[in-house]
Amino acid sequence: MIERLGPALAAPIFETVAVIGVGLIGSSIALAARRRGAAKKIVLSDRSADVLARAGALRLGDETVSDLSAAVRDADLVMLCAPVGANAEIGRAIAGSLKSGAVVSDVGSVKGAVVAALAPILPKSVHFVPAHPVAGTEQSGPEAGFPELFINRWCILTPPAGTDEGAVQRVKAFWEALGSHVEIMSAEHHDLVLAITSHLPHLIAYNIVGTAAELEETLRSEVMKFSAGGFRDFTRIAASDPTMWRDVFLNNKDAVLEMLGRFTEDLTALQRMIRRDGEGLFALFSRTRAIRRGIVELGQETAAPDFGRRSAEPPEPAA
Ligand code: NAP
Repeated sequence: MIERLGPALAAPIFETVAVIGVGLIGSSIALAARRRGAAKKIVLSDRSADVLARAGALRLGDETVSDLSAAVRDADLVMLCAPVGANAEIGRAIAGSLKSGAVVSDVGSVKGAVVAALAPILPKSVHFVPAHPVAGTEQSGPEAGFPELFINRWCILTPPAGTDEGAVQRVKAFWEALGSHVEIMSAEHHDLVLAITSHLPHLIAYNIVGTAAELEETLRSEVMKFSAGGFRDFTRIAASDPTMWRDVFLNNKDAVLEMLGRFTEDLTALQRMIRRDGEGLFALFSRTRAIRRGIVELGQETAAPDFGRRSAEPPEPAA
């Protein structure tokens, strides 16, 4: 069942919203904000003229502007939706054009590095409220967006200490209008939690699909043929955008390496159990099954078979 956004708001939360980087997340924000009336005017900007032309043809916003500084000049909310590694460059391009009192936010899957890169660049006259919508798919580009993407998903805000509370509340209200549940935490805590819930699973998927790709030809074709045995679900995650995920790992090194260390220790323990501890395997698999049930009970997944996939539904969350 496709979930629906609520009716249009009585008044917009921000008058003008500028979305920089019109890919999966940027286009979904634009579509959802328009549908809910969370912004009066939506300006889209991207480094790629081709992406902007496509975004214009799809009528994702009210205006497309190729010059980044011109795009943000009248914006009350500037949403940075490019890959994490591009934020410093974008920050430098827009810093001199931001309106006093404007709110700058982002959607990066990593928060500590984004805060470290942007906080020193942005002028003191704007409010910086970093965010991470924990919602996505393995698709990229302006055509991939859909307005229901954020419904019932978490959006984590990581405002640095001393951030204006009014600005935080407006960003919270904006994400709630897009259907999200909002939680506030420190950037460091966010990066540790997401390292295990999102970044490590992606690393494992990239690794297992990479291992399969290296197999000799006959074995590789059998892997494709019998992929429904579990491999197929890894390939979905491993099809995620290479630029975005390169930037995630390079910008959340410490937390990912910490979780990878724990994972490697547990994998060694599993090896031992396969050799001589069937009871141990059974106990572990029973515990992991309970975790899956817990996620379904929390409404973050459906209990339908085949990972809840239905062709008529929006794709599953990925990041
Ligand atoms: P995407 O579909 O690849 O879109 C990113 C867009 O940003 C592209 O159009 C790209 O243009 C543009 N861009 C790159 N560098 C730029 C620059 N310097 N200036 C202006 N535009 C630039 O990516 P996405 O999946 O929407 O991800 C965007 C952000 O959302 C990332 O920070 C990611 O960590 C975060 N996020 C993603 C997910 C997910 O599941 N995908 C979930 C939550 C958060 P080119 O095509 O020319 O490179």
